[in-house]
Amino acid sequence: MRRAFCLLTALLLLFSCAVAEEGTERSASGVTYEIFVGSFADSDGDGIGDLRGIADKLDYIEALGVSNIWLTPIHPSPSYHHYDVLDYDAIAPEFGTLADFDHLVTEAKKRGITVMLDLVVNHTSSEHPWFKAACEALRRGEESEYLDWYNFTEGGGAFVVTDTNWYYEGSFGYHMPDLNLDSDAVRAEIANIIAFWQSHGVKGFRLDAVTSYYSGADRSTADFLRFVCETAKAGDPECYVVGEAWTTEQTILALYASGIDSLFGFPAADQKGVLLQGALNGRGVGVARFEEHYHAAIKAVSPHSLDAPFLTNHDIARVRGMLRSDVTEMKVAAMLYLLLPGRPVVYYGEELGMGGSGIDENKRLPMLWSAEDETLLCNPPENANQKQKLKQGVDVQNDDPDSLLNTYRDLIHLRALAPELEHGIMTALDTGNDALCFFRVEDGGRCVLVLVNADAQESATLDVLKAYFAATGEVLMGAKVLGSVGDVTTHGDWLSPLRSDTPKSGEVTLAGASCVLLRVDAP
Ligand code: CA
Repeated sequence: MRRAFCLLTALLLLFSCAVAEEGTERSASGVTYEIFVGSFADSDGDGIGDLRGIADKLDYIEALGVSNIWLTPIHPSPSYHHYDVLDYDAIAPEFGTLADFDHLVTEAKKRGITVMLDLVVNHTSSEHPWFKAACEALRRGEESEYLDWYNFTEGGGAFVVTDTNWYYEGSFGYHMPDLNLDSDAVRAEIANIIAFWQSHGVKGFRLDAVTSYYSGADRSTADFLRFVCETAKAGDPECYVVGEAWTTEQTILALYASGIDSLFGFPAADQKGVLLQGALNGRGVGVARFEEHYHAAIKAVSPHSLDAPFLTNHDIARVRGMLRSDVTEMKVAAMLYLLLPGRPVVYYGEELGMGGSGIDENKRLPMLWSAEDETLLCNPPENANQKQKLKQGVDVQNDDPDSLLNTYRDLIHLRALAPELEHGIMTALDTGNDALCFFRVEDGGRCVLVLVNADAQESATLDVLKAYFAATGEVLMGAKVLGSVGDVTTHGDWLSPLRSDTPKSGEVTLAGASCVLLRVDAP
């Protein structure tokens, strides 16, 4: 008996040492930061956010711990949001120059941050030279190579080409004619666009409006997604492609058949999604259960794909309003999604608790560098009809260890301690306490446990080792605390049933809105 115990202790010590070495390692967080370019940072005083402005704020972005920035479209466009493009190989003059873009990419790379562009190829602007040439040819009754680039039909359709009997498709209105994605010439041009920006150091693309590519025809959409992904990977095997398919889980899963890296996790996002509902109701158990199911469903369709969980984006009302301006609930929401497997996406200003709802312009209000000094801010989008409700900008939150901003920083840095959180397999672990979101993520022989107390007020105590055994039937020799956010108490940083110094050494106590990340032996 004594010999067995000594052997176990020795093994445990060995394991403990190995874990301790591993545990200090920090990798890229894998977190993406979405920047609505015109509203982020203005470098030249014209009130419009620009590329130099973003480059000037890279220290801030680096301190947040993200490893990728997604820029909303930067190309010339008649619209403030730039989602109707006039020239895919150019930079909008109000955003800067190609040299400014190269500067941003270079400076970001020095900090280990990649740059991802919005690729808007469902449609162009109706002012795009391709579309204008096609319409002119129709008016003159002449041939043009661009007639095949859009979806023209004679005699009827969504929008008429002025002075003709020809009509065209436009999923987003007359000013955004849909491209004909079956055209070889269009696909060749898209390949050129991807190659051009890859030659300028772009490491990822966010595909806009995927569900409108072939509205309702999932197989055609998946085929086109596969074409885009294969083209992007041929140019750069590390290129990351994430698609915006704002639709049902069923359709999203059908589109994962393309093998695309990620599709945004719309089923869990927004007001009705399990993440914000979990934060609102103080119940974490539903998040673990739903995400286990969702991640498994993705992997079943496409084993190498990964979720891109998020709360809201530039098309969705800000988290603040949905969570009643409650900063503690906003911290819970952050804990519930920033430690999920995949590549989470933070919408700029979410880390501050910025508000904005109603018309789209309100969801894209200026990044609040300071609530006191408006000269530091961009102008709001022209038609915005709400003011920013948040009163603590970056300048104030930066120095407050308890601020939402510092909670986001801590969470993203915590995530970076566990590389398996990118590609790992997730297993929900029920604890009997519905406030707790408890799950295991395992990848390539490495394994972590994530435990979040989603209740904003009530603390919770859990014997992690017993709970793990109850949920899985597997005995854990121990668990190493990698880190925590909020107020978390453990009996040392090594939880073990064999330790003699305390009888309850598997226990973790989490105050409301707290979380802990633990490393264990892979199952
Ligand atoms: Ca500017």
